[in-house]
Formats: sequence, structure tokens, C-alpha cells
Amino acid sequence: MTTIKKYSNRDNKEEKESLKVNKDNNTNNKSKINFSEKDIKAFKSTINRIYIEDLEKYGDIIKDYGKEFDIPKLSFNQDKSKTDIEQKMDPELNSSILAAYNFKSNEINIKPELLNLYLGSNKDISIIDHTLAHELGHAISMQFGPDNYKNKSVKDKNAYDYVKDELLANLFAAQLSVKKKGLQISNETISKQLIADDTDFKDILKNIDKFEKYLNDLEDYQKNLIQNVKEFSKFAYDKIKEISDDKKIKIDITLVGKINKIYLDRVKLELNNFFKNSLANYSILTYSAPLLGASISLSKQNIDFKDFMNKIFDNISSVKEIKKYIKGSAASLNLRILSPIEFYLIDIEARKALTDELVKGDEFRDTYPQAFLKMEEQVENEFISLNVYLNAKIESERKVLKDLIEFNEKLKIN
Ligand SMILES: [Zn+2]
Repeated sequence: MTTIKKYSNRDNKEEKESLKVNKDNNTNNKSKINFSEKDIKAFKSTINRIYIEDLEKYGDIIKDYGKEFDIPKLSFNQDKSKTDIEQKMDPELNSSILAAYNFKSNEINIKPELLNLYLGSNKDISIIDHTLAHELGHAISMQFGPDNYKNKSVKDKNAYDYVKDELLANLFAAQLSVKKKGLQISNETISKQLIADDTDFKDILKNIDKFEKYLNDLEDYQKNLIQNVKEFSKFAYDKIKEISDDKKIKIDITLVGKINKIYLDRVKLELNNFFKNSLANYSILTYSAPLLGASISLSKQNIDFKDFMNKIFDNISSVKEIKKYIKGSAASLNLRILSPIEFYLIDIEARKALTDELVKGDEFRDTYPQAFLKMEEQVENEFISLNVYLNAKIESERKVLKDLIEFNEKLKIN
């Protein structure tokens, strides 16, 4: 998958606002899927032309993997159709997918977002180039990778598998880019290319102070999160108890329902902020941190590039430099996957305890506060488990920052 981030809070100026996501930053990134037939036609022919050129240039590298490469067909998905998860996602929270490789049909599917980005960048060919190289990378690693790897179905894949997929695609793409530039393929050239291809790293190196501040803010936010949830849980519980204890007023289910709704709306707001803050991050892309590890590892070791790839195929955490960041990257990915799901689950699961109570009718007066406590506990537990991911992510981000600065000083990439 090739993705582009929509969220960025790196331009926030106000101290207090620094953890809120600045929506204005993203308007130019938002998909405006409204193209003319002419645009679409021209785009398709450009992309087809680049693809054919690329395949010719990359032919030697692909052959070097020793087997027949089944060239993926390009398909264009300009009809706005989205996967189930994409439909559920809050469009403001998630990156757009530019293209995706489908192993079963052996197709590289080009999404409308790539056309959008391409037109928005004054037809910058390098955007198409990098996307195609990355997707070809997926195709090569899926086709030439070990059988147990490619036969893993989507639902059997865990976060580490996805991190591995993206890293492998980027390693192939870096190799192809080095070749395209006419440079010698060596550990050093690939190592540099990996970092140069990653726009997040460029941003971090340009704004190191801002990034450090962002990490500190994120840490503060993380510390306060559970406390905030606890506080408004207590507030809602006290209100409900007050109504239930007052024997003079006839219990008004709509009133309790209103408090309940206010509570769940606050929970959702907090959850929304949680995802915005934890995803709006420089190196949220699942492969950014591991590819720094891969870069460092390649520059240090005299390992053959193909052996290095095989090592990652076999067990990504066997590469010590990658292992350092992998927990945070997997956490990052988990948060991205959870963001569309948890929005619904927290509400639905939590509400169930209450509706079960409400249907009991007469016993409602005494049991309602207890039912609310059950819901509250469930909500708080959800937030605690989400925070575990956020913690792993922040820890990994700190390592990335430190190592990236050191590595850049040594190699002078940016
Ligand atoms: Zn990918």
C-alpha cells in the first residue's frame, strides 16, 4: 500500500493548542474526487507509459531474483469505491491510499487519490514513480517470497507482518530507484535511498525542535487521558445517582437517556482526540521507523543485500537495528486499524450493559447506577488498553529521533 498522510499538527502555533489537530492544514490534502474525463485519460496514459519504462529499467533486478516475474496489470479504480474499513473511517483521521497491490489478481490498483495528488503537485512525475516502485516492490516480495509468507491471508496477518510487508516493498523500491538513477547498487546507496525516499524523515530533520516538543506534548496528553475519562465518568455517575435516589421524582427514562448520551458523546470526543493526537505524527507510517533500522543495519554490516532481505522475510525482529523500533511501529499500525473500529465498538459494547438494564423496567430505579458503573469500567479499560499502544509508539518515536539525527550526521543524507 502506498499512503499519504492527511494529518499534521506540526504547524500549530499556540502552546495550548499544540495537541489539537489543525484542520486547516489538511484542506489541500483532502480528496476532491471530481476529475474531468480528459484528466483521467491523460493520467492513465502517463502512468502506463511510466510503468512500461520502469519495467524495462528494472528488468535486470527483477530477473536477478531468479524466477519468472509475472508482471502485474495496472488497474484504475476511479469510481470512488472504498473497502469496508475505508467506509467506516473518519476521513479526517486516516491517510489516503494511493495504490495497492492485489496478489490474487496480480494487479496494481491505482486509486483516485494518486490522480488527485499528482494534479495537486503540478504533475510531479516522481510521485507516480515512487508509488509504482513501491507497489512493484510488493509484487516482487509477494511473488518471490517464501510460500508461507505469500499464502498468509489478510486476516492471518498481524501488525508485524504488515510492518514487514511495507519495509520489504520499500527496500525493493529503494533498489529500483538507485538503479533508475544509474548508481551502483550497494549497501551504502540503498541505505541512503531508503532515508531519502521517506518524506517523514525529511520533515523531522527540518523541524527537530518542533518534533521534540510534539513528543513532549504527546506524553503529557497521554498522562492526562485516563484521568479525564475518570473525571467525566464520575460526573455522569453522580448525576444518575442523584436522579435515582430522589424518590420524589418519577424516574424519567428520557432524562437518564440524555445523561447517558452526554456521557457517550464525551467518550467519543475523547476517543476522537486520542486518535487524532496519536496518529497526527511525523513517523506514523508503519514502515518509517523500521526502514531507519534497515538503513542503519545495511550501513554497518557487510551483508549481501539479498541475504539481508531474506533475513527480514524469515524474521524481521532478527535484525537488531529494526527490532529496536518494531514495537512502536506495530503499535502505530494497531492504532490506525483500531481507529475506525473503536469508534463504534466503545459505544456499542458499552451501551449494551445499559440497554440490558433498561428493559428490566421496574427494577430500573436501583439497578441503573450499577449498570452505569459497568459501562464506565468498560470505557476506562478501553482507554487504558489504547494508551498501551500510545506508550509504545512514543517510546519508539524518541528512539527514531535520536538515531535519525546521529545517522544523518554520519551519512549527510539531508
Ligand atoms: Zn505498501
